[in-house]
This record gives sequence, structure tokens and C-alpha cells, in this order.
Amino acid sequence: MPTAVYSGSFDPVTLGHIDIVRRGCALFEQVIVAVGHHPKKKYWFDAATRQQLFSDAIGDLPNCSVMTFEGLLVDFCERQKASVILRGVRSVTDADYEMTYATANRDLTGVETVFLTADPKLSFLSSSIVKEISGNGGDVSRYVPSGVMAALSERTA
Ligand code: ADP
Repeated sequence: MPTAVYSGSFDPVTLGHIDIVRRGCALFEQVIVAVGHHPKKKYWFDAATRQQLFSDAIGDLPNCSVMTFEGLLVDFCERQKASVILRGVRSVTDADYEMTYATANRDLTGVETVFLTADPKLSFLSSSIVKEISGNGGDVSRYVPSGVMAALSERTA
């Protein structure tokens, strides 16, 4: 069974991300969560905090680790000897966007992308909507791990 890399911004991690990583861990020998950092992108949380929040949320998963990365995802996969990229799709819009990257990544190094469809109960959920609700004083406790709740409270205090 190959090692898979589950990449994203995870700014912050939501229960939708956790669902994908748990299901991925049942399919692959190892899943490495790759928390992306792009110098020109603005984040609510820095890369180390996003990594810590994800690690805290998957504490009981033995075949999962969480790392940060910069640069091309395919290079990170090669360094980690991972032959699969794992991604979640919530909608046709996601699928359309993901197709381009999956095809480009396969063309670059041969790495395959495996998609898991979102749990319908979580398919509306995104880091952006969590930030929008939380930033306007709404309750996101049903959507994020408890550690993220604490971090959001500090951020919006
Ligand atoms: P990116 O900035 O790379 O889109 P995200 O952190 O938004 O990263 O998402 C990482 C991955 O998780 C993507 O494949 C995205 O489609 C998937 N994802 C995000 N939210 C959900 C959700 N609620 N259910 C399933 N997959 C999701």
C-alpha cells in the first residue's frame, strides 16, 4: 500500500478535512498531511500553528503525520516517497479545479491523485466559511475540532 500526501492550506483545519484524513488512513499505509505555506498568500494562522492544530485533532491516528511544506507539492511527495496525492471533493466546482492540478502533477512526476467525495453532511464546509462565521461572532463549534475553537477565540478576541 502506498503512502499518500493529503495537502491543503488548512487555515484552519475543519471537520471536513478530518473526515477525509481518517478515511484516507483506512486506505493507505501512511497518510502525511502536508500543510502548505506560500510566501505571497495571506493566512489567519501561520504554518506552525496550522500544523499543530491539525496534529492535535488527529492524535489517535497511528498512521498519520503532519508536516509543513513550501514549493511544489510533487517535490514534497518525492522527498517523502509518496506516490499518491489525496484530495477531497465537495462539488463539481472542486472537481473542475482539482482536475487541472491532478493532471499537471501526474504529468510532472507520475504521481497519482486519489479523490474522496465529501461526506454530504460536511460538503458545505470550508475553512473560508468557518473564518467568515467566526470573524462575525458566529458559533463554529459544530464545524471544527475543539483546539481550533480555542485558537479562533484568541484570534477574534
Ligand atoms: P486548498 O487551499 O489546497 O484548497 P484546503 O485546506 O481548502 O486547501 O482543502 C484541502 C483539501 O481538502 C482539498 O482537497 C479540499 O477539496 C478538501 N476539503 C476541504 N473541505 C472539505 C470538506 N468539507 N469535505 C471534504 N473535503 C474537503
